[in-house]
Amino acid sequence: IRKLRARLNRGDSWLTRDLGSLFRNERLDDDALDEIETRLLTADAGVEATEWLMQRLRAEVGAGRVRNPQQLRAALKKALVELLAPVAQPLRIPDFIRPYILFVAGVNGVGKTTTIGKLALHYKREGKRVLLAAGDTFRAAAVEQLRTWSERAGVPMLAQGEGADAASVIFDAVQSAKSRGIDVLIADTAGRLHTQAHLMDELRKIKRVVQKHDPYAPHEVLLVVDATTGGNALVQALQFHEAIGLTGIAITKLDGTAKGGILLAIARRLALPVRFIGIGEAVEDLQPFDADAFAEALIG
Ligand code: GDP
Repeated sequence: IRKLRARLNRGDSWLTRDLGSLFRNERLDDDALDEIETRLLTADAGVEATEWLMQRLRAEVGAGRVRNPQQLRAALKKALVELLAPVAQPLRIPDFIRPYILFVAGVNGVGKTTTIGKLALHYKREGKRVLLAAGDTFRAAAVEQLRTWSERAGVPMLAQGEGADAASVIFDAVQSAKSRGIDVLIADTAGRLHTQAHLMDELRKIKRVVQKHDPYAPHEVLLVVDATTGGNALVQALQFHEAIGLTGIAITKLDGTAKGGILLAIARRLALPVRFIGIGEAVEDLQPFDADAFAEALIG
């Protein structure tokens, strides 16, 4: 939690900064509540999550349970946990599905490759045999970037030549995973094609092809979004979810932003499992999402 707090807040807790100054005569007035509301909105928590949280907070204040900064902190934390706990579902991979097929999607630049590298190491450390499939065949550098991560994590990677058909790369990777006794196949997918429609078509095609191996695959379709893009992260999540059906989200770069509220907006709007959060560039900077720890870190 200490590391999470240091990374999230960078020494400045946007949500609870100067809480003491919000109290006059041991009561929290409407101005103070408005201030908290503003802080949430400024941090990109969005209208829906903000209203939901404020309603809970107002109820606590109205009932006379918030009379000092400590109580306000506690009330805020309780509301945050209530919002986040239902979506805090880290991805645990069962050993009875083999290979477990995990698609990773996301727009270029959000940290998709980095997240795949971190995931590979995460599952390898659990004792699983991991294989990467270089399914982002559209961007020239993507395969090499993924190779660097596969070496760093010490897991094998399958790729075909530049411009190869992504569906065929991933189909072959599933074949290979089966014959090599791989536990987890992590498939990279394109982050951009000529158009948004092309991209979604390709993702759907990859899904269809993999289902020839296993009708229930992919077992996870994980979307990576970048917290620093604020509202765009939410828009991307909605678009991908509508087009290909997501089963989980990873939110990166929460360390690089004062806009960490976007996680609250995503939790409230999408109600999709939040699997992991990225809080730095290093391989160990991917954490399974824990509502309590996150709320505690936000409160500062
Ligand atoms: P891709 O285009 O989506 O595959 O993005 P990359 O994985 O290449 O990442 C883009 C940049 O974001 C790189 O410089 C990464 O080091 C950086 N990055 C990825 N995840 C995080 C994170 O959680 N925190 C920070 N600060 N940077 C990150």
